[in-house]
Amino acid sequence: VIYMSKDIVGPDGKVIAAMLTEEDVTENIDDETVAVIGYGSQGRGQSLNMRDSGVNIILGLIDDPFKEQALKDGWVEGKNVFSVEEASKKATIIYMLIPDTVQAKVYHSIVEKHMMEGKAIAFAHGYNIRFARIKPPENVDIIMVAPKGPGAIVREQYEAGFGVPALIAVEQDYTKKAKNRALGIAHAIGATRPGVLETTFKDETETDLFGEQVDLCGGVVEMVKAAYETLLEDGRNPVLAYWEVHHELYGLISPLCYKFGNAGMLKRVSDTAKDGAFQSGPRVIDSHVKENMKAVLDDIKTGKYAEGWDARYAKKGRKAVTDEIEKLEKHPVEVIGKQVRKVMWPKDNVE
Ligand code: NAD
Ligand code: MG
Repeated sequence: VIYMSKDIVGPDGKVIAAMLTEEDVTENIDDETVAVIGYGSQGRGQSLNMRDSGVNIILGLIDDPFKEQALKDGWVEGKNVFSVEEASKKATIIYMLIPDTVQAKVYHSIVEKHMMEGKAIAFAHGYNIRFARIKPPENVDIIMVAPKGPGAIVREQYEAGFGVPALIAVEQDYTKKAKNRALGIAHAIGATRPGVLETTFKDETETDLFGEQVDLCGGVVEMVKAAYETLLEDGRNPVLAYWEVHHELYGLISPLCYKFGNAGMLKRVSDTAKDGAFQSGPRVIDSHVKENMKAVLDDIKTGKYAEGWDARYAKKGRKAVTDEIEKLEKHPVEVIGKQVRKVMWPKDNVE
């Protein structure tokens, strides 16, 4: 297989990465049986896309509402819907699209005994391989296809004729076709349309955890809370404060950054906003923030974070996180925000 690719050139003119796109897929996975284990966010989106792309897909599911959804989507019990055990047995590629927290248990109790020579085990996130919670045998491929977006969007963009970009990685290449298997899945879910980047399990796992912790899901929420509290403590109208620090950020400013970059966003706001950003941005996000980020990254790299999460999950299960969400829902920016959204968008689900 010859991979051609689109080079991404760094500021100094050197090639820093090569993006794989449609033309780079020179082989297919037509002779594989892909068992998608799980039909949640990624499981549903990816398996519907692969089915539409003509891949031989079966689902390995437990009896729960996710399975009911699968049957509603036209998957058929006994034809392409099986137990996790049966699907693992039939598959040549076993694609673990169940929560990271249950993968090791399901692997050890069911999947492991079906990891016959030459099969592949696939993941959409490297957690359980990177932190050695799952150790597949030496005579199988270990691959990853990690779309950089939620499963619903993976489906939506595919149906719109496009796709969400994805990372692929090969941890173990027993058959010498591991990369082609990963690229075949990436192609079938639409990811080669925008582009696929090859990485490692280590890099994907550590950067994914870092991103969701320091800015995407963790940092930005704390920043909004702090900004909102500051205005409220200064006696400002809560609706005004919500519009200012929450509504505008997510609805209006983020989309500009997404499309045009940070500088492009700043080109599109007032000159006063530009100056204020340069004067006060670094005062808020000062050098301590980066030190804190480095400490977070260290905990991820040493496995300290994963140990903590495993322990919290072992003790409380999903309640470890759902209790925290309940607590967050009592924060004024959430309480007021929900009411404001109900008034703005009366027909929409705003929770
Ligand atoms: P999810 O929580 O939506 O998975 C739900 C599915 O898992 C259901 O079908 C459920 O029946 C099944 N399941 C739960 N417990 C099970 C058990 N004990 N045995 C068998 N099946 C069980 O999962 P997700 O969010 O789609 O995540 C799947 C993988 O994709 C993870 O590795 C995750 O890190 C990765 N990922 C997710 C996203 C995302 O958008 N959610 C994005 C990129 C990567
Ligand atoms: Mg993640």
